[in-house]
Amino acid sequence: MYCGERFDVGELTVDHVQPRMRGGDHSPGNLVTACNACNARKAGMRLTDFLRSDPVVRANFLRLAGQHVWKRIVRDVERE
Ligand SMILES: [Zn+2]
Repeated sequence: MYCGERFDVGELTVDHVQPRMRGGDHSPGNLVTACNACNARKAGMRLTDFLRSDPVVRANFLRLAGQHVWKRIVRDVERE
């Protein structure tokens, strides 16, 4: 979802778009795949802070999120 690189399934992690520690739940619209490096970099950051930290990550998220992430999350990102 974030760096846009391709990985084998076994190399991917499940990422909570809105981190659990920030109230994100386990519903499908809050779960995406991310490589280990991206998931570790994102950790408990606010989503918008993570997206601001890397223009490539931000572009990939905005390109892909519409199909996979709850609309309310995408709307919040666009608003910020
Ligand atoms: Zn990645």
